[in-house]
Amino acid sequence: MTGVRCTVVVPTGGRPSLGTTLTAVDAAEGAAPVEIVVVDDRGDPGSPLPIPELTTSVRVVRSGGGGPARARNIGWRLAETEWVAFLDDDVVPGHTWCGDLMDDLASLGPEVAGSQGNITVPLPGGRRPTDDERSTYALTEARWITADMAYRRSALAAVGGFDERFPRAYREDADLAVRMQHLGYRLVRGHRRTTHPPHRPAFLASVRRQAGNADDALLRAKYGPGWRELIGEGPGRRRTHAATTAAAVAAAVCGLARRRRSALASLAAWTWLTGRFAVERIRPGPRDPAELVRMLATSVLIPPVACAHAVAGWCRVRRERPRPAAVLFDRDDTLIEDGPYLSDPDGVRPVPGAGAVLDELRRRGIAVGVVSNQSGVARGLISPDQLAAVNATVERLLGPFDTWQVCPHGEDDGCACRKPRPELVHRAARAVGVPVHRCVVVGDTGADVDAGRAAGAVGALVPTARTREAERARTPLVAGDLASAVRLGLEALA
Ligand SMILES: [Mg+2]
Repeated sequence: MTGVRCTVVVPTGGRPSLGTTLTAVDAAEGAAPVEIVVVDDRGDPGSPLPIPELTTSVRVVRSGGGGPARARNIGWRLAETEWVAFLDDDVVPGHTWCGDLMDDLASLGPEVAGSQGNITVPLPGGRRPTDDERSTYALTEARWITADMAYRRSALAAVGGFDERFPRAYREDADLAVRMQHLGYRLVRGHRRTTHPPHRPAFLASVRRQAGNADDALLRAKYGPGWRELIGEGPGRRRTHAATTAAAVAAAVCGLARRRRSALASLAAWTWLTGRFAVERIRPGPRDPAELVRMLATSVLIPPVACAHAVAGWCRVRRERPRPAAVLFDRDDTLIEDGPYLSDPDGVRPVPGAGAVLDELRRRGIAVGVVSNQSGVARGLISPDQLAAVNATVERLLGPFDTWQVCPHGEDDGCACRKPRPELVHRAARAVGVPVHRCVVVGDTGADVDAGRAAGAVGALVPTARTREAERARTPLVAGDLASAVRLGLEALA
């Protein structure tokens, strides 16, 4: 017995394969999961799900539709175990999966938030794999895919779970992994094995898969042009598809304008690009007549469809109102140099770079606030008027803050607001009208970060020479300067 407790979460659109997945978990050797949570993600459930008789406890909940990201969030939030293992509803866990999962998880330190299973895709013998089969086979190399991925529940809570703006089973798992790693967690690969059967062949399957280009637009908006590198992917075909589509459009426009030479040149470019794309897809395949026809037809359709989805995704991202966010700063040794019990406004010295960081946040429409312990007031070392004068000078030097939340109590007063208690952070979030899970708390001590995390915000530490090593060691998100802490904190927001 390893003592690891785990809940298995399976979101499902009602595929018949669900029964096989659940039966395989139930039959696998090793300590059974505490519970299997099946999240029925059908908008209109109609018929009951194909749930077989199992010895493992199964709970079925409905999401009302909304996609796998939302369904998985519902599932893990119901879990009461330290670990949550996500499985897709079309995979078949290996016959020792339960025991292997427990072994994978038991050996992990607290800095590891996730463990990925190994996906096997059986390919047909005696012939080359089709395009659809190769596309499923690519899952064996994919990183952090939730076809078989276990996460610590506390880490899921720390990042706010999956981003539900990803509407399909694509990119939402990579996005979660990136945010986990930005918070300082490690993700590892385990030893357990799960089989993913090849996708069922369909003439236009490769064209339908282009819908994922819309999700790429969201990843780019979240992480900038380097997003592919961040998730460990190659450059993709976006540029070639754009060039192919542009050539087709140019040929049509020039044709209509009776500019014959330009039309022919554009047509030649389109033919060459499309032909090259088709050959690249035909070469590794079975090259039978059916596959040849399918590859030629879909190679014509894929570039414009991919571009249309990319543009639609880009428009959706542009239309979307920026989601509110706030950064709440500790004051002393974070925004200004710490003078012990600073009571003289002339002693206010901003930390280098603080003004630029704050200006940039204001420019981006991100609320800024201060959450500060000032026990000097309770000790009679600073008068409330002196505190107000110092804070006014901070605003004069660093610009206006959307909220100031100050705890004037002493350590032994038993107040609810002194950090590391979360009250100041809650008050600040309410004051700026931002949900606390969309707030980042930046400070130089463990108390700052702990207050943020206790409230449900993201905590980021910018250590100074006075920051204790233990505080640094237990904080997942540590940065060398204020700007980096803010950037990492905002990237880690759900
Ligand atoms: Mg401080």
